[in-house]
Amino acid sequence: MQRSFILLKPDCVQRRLMGQVISRFEQKGLNFVAMKMLQITPDLAKQHYAEHVEKAWYPTLEGFITGGPVVAAVVEGLEAIQVVRDMLGATSGLKASAGTIRGDFSSSRQMNLVHGSDGPEAAEREIALYFNDEELCGYEPTITPWLRAADED
Ligand code: ADP
Ligand code: MG
Repeated sequence: MQRSFILLKPDCVQRRLMGQVISRFEQKGLNFVAMKMLQITPDLAKQHYAEHVEKAWYPTLEGFITGGPVVAAVVEGLEAIQVVRDMLGATSGLKASAGTIRGDFSSSRQMNLVHGSDGPEAAEREIALYFNDEELCGYEPTITPWLRAADED
């Protein structure tokens, strides 16, 4: 079982796409174990996007990600990190395949609606950046026997 960090970016909130995006993850079988709305500060943005802070386009990314409320969440499931990345699609909505969240809803390189951790280390770091342990509500959904066979983990 693996956990991934998801962030519904300000464009997702403003465009009223939160419900549709959350539904896609639920329909896939991922289990939401934490969720909250917040407004990202410039300081938090620099921590979240530490790998991009030196890039020429970082200031516009910071302006975007701090420009309105976001929803931070943690999902759990088998291979959750890769499953989420595949559901998001390529970074640019213009390049992302149809059927992915970015491919279906975004036509922007920057305003691509949802962030998902890109590996186990990033997931651990990002979950800790947004949530403390008491905010993580792990549970076993009663529907699990109808989502996959008992030997699939
Ligand atoms: P991903 O979110 O797919 O992992 P990156 O890690 O490359 O993509 O970039 C982080 C975020 O920064 C992207 O999701 C997007 O919102 C924004 N971004 C990426 N490239 C650019 C760019 N060239 N100009 C402005 N914003 C960008
Ligand atoms: Mg990335």
